[in-house]
Amino acid sequence: MTFACTMCGACCVGPDISTLNKSLGVPCAHLGTDHRCTIYDERPQVCRDYQADELCTLIAADTLEERAEKLLAIFGLTPGG
Ligand code: SF4
Repeated sequence: MTFACTMCGACCVGPDISTLNKSLGVPCAHLGTDHRCTIYDERPQVCRDYQADELCTLIAADTLEERAEKLLAIFGLTPGG
């Protein structure tokens, strides 16, 4: 089963990404206000490898902050934790 990216932005906020020196729950510096990557053509491999999956539907919420929190909660993670 394949899942289409919902362009919700949560995967650019929730995870820590060492390549980008990005901490848990902190929006990536390259995330635009439209939830699109502003360096899409030059984004690191870790971002290129990320695939949408069922999590993208499980974390649906009205705001980006809520979606990112739900994403972290699924993995038992909290920002700064
Ligand atoms: S570089 Fe782009 S795709 Fe990767 S986390 Fe940042 S905004 Fe998202």
